[in-house]
Amino acid sequence: MTKHYPVIIYKRDEKKVYSSDFQTQATYADGWKAILSSAHRYEYPITCACPGNHSRSLSVRYITDGDSYYLARYPKSGEQHAFDCRYYSPDPNKTGLSGYHSDVVEEKSNGDISVKLNLSLRINELPDSGEPVAVRQANSDAKYATKPAMTLLGLLNLIWTEAGLNVWSPNFAKKKRTVSFIHSRLVRTASRITTNHMRLNEALVVSTPESGGRQEEANIAKVKSATRNKRRLLIIAPLASYNEERASGVKGFLAVKYPNGLPLITYDQALWSAVSKRYSRQLSAWGKGQTIVAIVQADQPSNENKAKALNIAIMVVSSEWIPVDSSYESIVEKKLRDEGRHFYKPLRFDSENEVVFPDFWLLDLPDNREFPMEVFGMDSSEYIERKHEKVEHYNSVYGAKGWWMWDVTIDRNGVETAPLPAPKH
Ligand SMILES: [Zn+2]
Repeated sequence: MTKHYPVIIYKRDEKKVYSSDFQTQATYADGWKAILSSAHRYEYPITCACPGNHSRSLSVRYITDGDSYYLARYPKSGEQHAFDCRYYSPDPNKTGLSGYHSDVVEEKSNGDISVKLNLSLRINELPDSGEPVAVRQANSDAKYATKPAMTLLGLLNLIWTEAGLNVWSPNFAKKKRTVSFIHSRLVRTASRITTNHMRLNEALVVSTPESGGRQEEANIAKVKSATRNKRRLLIIAPLASYNEERASGVKGFLAVKYPNGLPLITYDQALWSAVSKRYSRQLSAWGKGQTIVAIVQADQPSNENKAKALNIAIMVVSSEWIPVDSSYESIVEKKLRDEGRHFYKPLRFDSENEVVFPDFWLLDLPDNREFPMEVFGMDSSEYIERKHEKVEHYNSVYGAKGWWMWDVTIDRNGVETAPLPAPKH
């Protein structure tokens, strides 16, 4: 279960503890907002009181859309928090984030994240080539070659991870994640990510099911601002249900769900062919009924409310918006949710085989260790070689019983038979 732990605010010489109830219950909402507002104005230090380690500093963030405040952990400090703390995330070395050179994602002292992209949101700069970025030669202090910039897909992974949408805890099951919830989480997260001196939320519009609501208004305002100020847009939206016409791209526009406030996203056939080739596995999952989330770098919108896609990246998500990389991972993800487990899905970002991290981290074991879970689904010779490397790695770091695997090539029903370690009570 993830939860709100009390937080401590250091107001000059005074140290005040605010309980979980005070932070979350509607009766205290005005009081909590006033406290966060003054902590924001005077930059009071704040720490999380979970049983973690190190400083566990938090920062107050302000969202103009909705005039609200919330607390966020400092970037890369997620591992300082207890597993069941809502601010926990694994060490970036346990995800695909470790595949970048150290200057690609940087934490700022105010809690912002600055990211170096290989694409631009301003017109007078070159658009993204759409190509995966080449690795930089390993320097003497790096274990392996690293990527010098983040692509559009990496950015989608970063926003999703920082929004906590790749985490599942059994208490989340009480309330289904709606598109409106996804919208607010993504916009809020984008407000603390900067790239090339620009805040991502200024350019980011996201699907919303609420026609005429505040989310649609915010989308419309950002599209207008991009049209006036010669700026590009970032658009995140689930694709409309699969049909052959949409998959073929003949219509020349991207059909998305809940496009309230979004421009019509047009594209050239060449771009759609490249996307279909690069993301063939994801588009095949779309054909089988899975939800696909697209992120689009779109050119300055026209006065007719159309915006031409310069680059599109996509990922497959489960019914609760947790990214999955294969149909077998989907089975494991659903099993974990059905069994009420607490887990973290580390995302790949732009990494390839240069970093080793599992398909899932299980986080609810009694001894408070992260428990890796792997699905081996292919039997090509290259993949088998990779599998041996991974098995050896997990056995040496976690011990033969310290991790879980399902080898689909040996046992297609293995997910039913391979027991999971019991969670703590
Ligand atoms: Zn914490």
